[in-house]
Amino acid sequence: MSAELKVLDPVINTKDIKVLIIEDEAQITRLIELELKYEGYNVITATDGLEGLNSIRESMPDLVLLDCMLPNMSGEEVCRQVRNDLMSTPIIMITAKDSIEDKVKGLDYGADDYLVKPFATEELLARIRAVLRRKPKSEAGTLQYKDLWLDQFNRLAKRSEHELELRSKEFSLLRVFMLHPEQYLTREFLFSKVWGYDFIGESNVIEVYIRYLRSKLKEKQYGKLIHTKRGEGYMLKQFDS
Ligand code: CA
Repeated sequence: MSAELKVLDPVINTKDIKVLIIEDEAQITRLIELELKYEGYNVITATDGLEGLNSIRESMPDLVLLDCMLPNMSGEEVCRQVRNDLMSTPIIMITAKDSIEDKVKGLDYGADDYLVKPFATEELLARIRAVLRRKPKSEAGTLQYKDLWLDQFNRLAKRSEHELELRSKEFSLLRVFMLHPEQYLTREFLFSKVWGYDFIGESNVIEVYIRYLRSKLKEKQYGKLIHTKRGEGYMLKQFDS
């Protein structure tokens, strides 16, 4: 690799970025690890799908390089579970399978990009930078919308620097809104994301929790945040006054 070819992105400070490599082939892991460390990234590794998933949950990496074919749990399943946890950690799938269906499947499970083995190091580094540019570091662990701030891992939420005392389901509900701001979300969608199973029949549970949330968001004091539209659902939006 020649020095002239190395273009470091000024917006990315690699030493603050933790990359998790989930790969069962030690040689490939070693190779990627060396290259990333050379670029200054902070690197951690896992050798199977389950260990990888646990590492994502516990170590909160800023980016994951995820092999598809892994022991214990496939890369696709790891990706699906991470997104199911509502974690927006950037994921680049690394696959030996280069059929269109496999690529589409990876993206369907919520991967941000994919790379087909064998790949050139420069391409891997460029894709990492591109994904990190699209998803800024702060997005991996904390979410922000206007005066709302939410720390997904420590389960803290604030509005205008005022800490919100949210119960577990209220926190999850707010998190879903913050992952999809300024769009109407149906009761069914909110229910499946927060309660984890499909909405069954008529229930006012969503209405009740929205009411709790509105009160805890102190809408009267700081302004309206959750809007309701008949037939469309609920939307998190703050109109600038
Ligand atoms: Ca593999």
